[in-house]
Amino acid sequence: MKLSAFGRKFTADSGITSLMDDLGHALASGDDMIMMGGGNPGQVPEMQDRLTAILADMTRDPEAMKRLVGIYDPPQGEKRFIASLVDLLNREYGWGLTADNIALTNGSQAAFFMLFNMFGGDFDDGSHRHILLPLAPEYIGYADAGIAPELFRAVEPEISFTGPHEFKYRVDFDAVEVTAETGAICVSRPTNPTGNVVTDEELERLEVLARSQDVPLIVDGAYGTPFPSLLYVEAQPRWNEQVILCLSLSKLGLPAARTGIVIAAPGIIKALSGINAIMNLATGSFGAMLAEPLVRSGEILSLSREVVCPFYHAKMERAVRAFTDAMGDDCRWYVHKPEGAMFLWFWFPDLPVSSLELYQRLKARGVLVVSGHYFFPGLPENDWRHRHECIRVTYSQDDEQVAEGMRRIADEVKTIWAELG
Ligand code: PLP
Repeated sequence: MKLSAFGRKFTADSGITSLMDDLGHALASGDDMIMMGGGNPGQVPEMQDRLTAILADMTRDPEAMKRLVGIYDPPQGEKRFIASLVDLLNREYGWGLTADNIALTNGSQAAFFMLFNMFGGDFDDGSHRHILLPLAPEYIGYADAGIAPELFRAVEPEISFTGPHEFKYRVDFDAVEVTAETGAICVSRPTNPTGNVVTDEELERLEVLARSQDVPLIVDGAYGTPFPSLLYVEAQPRWNEQVILCLSLSKLGLPAARTGIVIAAPGIIKALSGINAIMNLATGSFGAMLAEPLVRSGEILSLSREVVCPFYHAKMERAVRAFTDAMGDDCRWYVHKPEGAMFLWFWFPDLPVSSLELYQRLKARGVLVVSGHYFFPGLPENDWRHRHECIRVTYSQDDEQVAEGMRRIADEVKTIWAELG
């Protein structure tokens, strides 16, 4: 098979494909594997009940059924959902949006692919612009999304200790450089993999930097504010024409409906609609139509804050407690301050094996996690040992399983120290 540069780029082994492959094989190899590797949301009963009721209403209404499955939406996305979202966000935050400020995509992952390649890569004047990730580690799903090579440039964080076994990454503004070669800045907030939440002040400073070169600040709110609000610290939503705010219905409990939401300046929305038309003809209506009543009534915000957030917050606390208890008086571990999302990011300084070997040893013990070394897209290879000392652990699934997984991780880490330390 002879492939173009595009064909080669997207069929070559990438971090995310080998990771997904490995997770898939591990899952197929035994039923009793404890799955703490992926980013699948948990099943929140109240959300499921509400969505089931909305769907049941639609199935009784022939007009709604026709719109649900029988017509193509415009490439910008389902109109009523967009109109309701414009009203809600203006009412809540006074952003002054119109329908020209919102486009839908088939999952927010697709939005990142479009945005990164719109603002990064090769330009007519011969220049090559990168996407700046100001706070590594960052979401692995960005890593291979560039059509042009070397699309990302990432910056090592500052590390501060926030408790006896807790640390937090912060943006190292002395090291962040926004130049004429920067096409856009991007942060996930909360961050996958760490559960970090870039503070309001950090976000404001990043926006000032973006403005200085007139490039967009892309904020990935897949777990964030205003919904699904998997946030355990205060964080204000922020939008103006310098910002591209990307949201998603996935972590509210609709990952299969593939609905991403982009809020941006009208020129960007128009461009995204054009790309949507070429790539997909239309975006899927399903997620937008299911969620529209929740947006119209504002329930999407109250359910996020009062149901979805507490659901994950309680899971996070139980997971941290299970690990802390299992480690006992062993002091050689840290967890990133769990401020949001559905992950714990553990750091084992000076562990005698790499995070990849730890991942393999844990897999052999029936626990799937993700080795942290995958989460540094755009950071040049260097001797920063830290990137091979961390693992990401998802706590969104069944509590008993998560607690057992935590005990096995603690036990394995202690075994490694006893054998090799
Ligand atoms: N951004 C982050 C940080 C994620 O973790 C994910 C998925 O896990 C996505 C974006 C993409 O989500 P979706 O395409 O389901 O909207």
